[in-house]
Amino acid sequence: MNLILLGPPGAGKGTQARMLGEAHDLVQLSTGDMLRAAVDAGTKVGKQAKVTMEAGKLVSDDIVIGIISERIDEPDCSTGFILDGFPRTVAQAEALDELLVQKNKKLDVVFEIRVDDERLIKRITGRFTCANCGEGYHEEFRRPEQDGICDKCSGTEFSRRKDDNEETVRSRLTAYHTQTVPLIGYYGNSSRLKSVDGMLEIDSVFKQIEVALTEL
Ligand code: ADP
Ligand code: ADP
Ligand code: ZN
Repeated sequence: MNLILLGPPGAGKGTQARMLGEAHDLVQLSTGDMLRAAVDAGTKVGKQAKVTMEAGKLVSDDIVIGIISERIDEPDCSTGFILDGFPRTVAQAEALDELLVQKNKKLDVVFEIRVDDERLIKRITGRFTCANCGEGYHEEFRRPEQDGICDKCSGTEFSRRKDDNEETVRSRLTAYHTQTVPLIGYYGNSSRLKSVDGMLEIDSVFKQIEVALTEL
C-alpha cells in the first residue's frame, strides 16, 4: 500500500505517518526530514535548500522530486510507503504520477488532514522531538508521560526546529495555501482523495484514517 498524507504544516502528518507506519509496516518518507538531514550533513542539496527552508518557502520541485525518486527505489519501499510532505505542488504531483508509472507502482489513497490556521500556529510553536529517535511531542497536546524522558526510547534530549517560530510559520502557511491547496483539486478529480478532521485528538484522527483504509 502506498499513500500520501497531505496537509498544512503542523496538521499532524508526521505524527500520523509514524503511527500508520508502525501499524501497517510502511516506510515513512518525509521530504522535510530528508532535507533537514541534507542541511545538517552539508551536502550540495542541503546547501541549496537551507536558506529557502529557513525563510519558510518551498524548495525547488527538481530537488525534491530527485530525492523522492531515488528513495522509492530502495528495497525497504517495495512493500509500501507513506509520503509525508510530498508532493506539495501540482508539478510535484504530476512528476510523482509519472514516476509511479515508470516504477510500476500505484498510489492507493491520499489523505487530506484538515486543521484551522490558528490551531496550526499553536501546534507548531509547541512542537518538539526526541533528538534520539525522532518521536514527536507537544508542550500542551502531547507531553511525554514522564517529563524530560522520551516514551519510545527513554532518550532525554529533545530538539526544536529552527523554522518552528511564528513568523516563519506564517510564510509556510502562505506557501501551503497558494502552492499546495491546488493538489486537493488535482487528487479530488481522480477520486483518490479522502479528507479527515485533523482538529480532533491524535488517536481520533488515527481512527478516521484506519476506518477509511478498511473501506478501500
Ligand atoms: P511541516 O512538517 O511543518 O509540514 P516539513 O518538515 O514537511 O514541514 O518541511 C519543512 C520545509 O522543508 C518546508 O517549509 C520546505 O522548505 C521544505 N520542504 C519539505 N518538503 C518539501 C516539498 N515537497 N517541496 C518543497 N519544499 C519542501
Ligand atoms: P506535521 O508533520 O503535519 O507538520 P506534526 O505531526 O509534527 O505535524 O504535528 C505538529 C505538532 O502538533 C506536534 O507537536 C504534534 O505532537 C502535535 N499534534 C499532532 N497531531 C495532533 C492532534 N491531532 N492534536 C493535538 N496535537 C497534535
Ligand atoms: Zn525517543
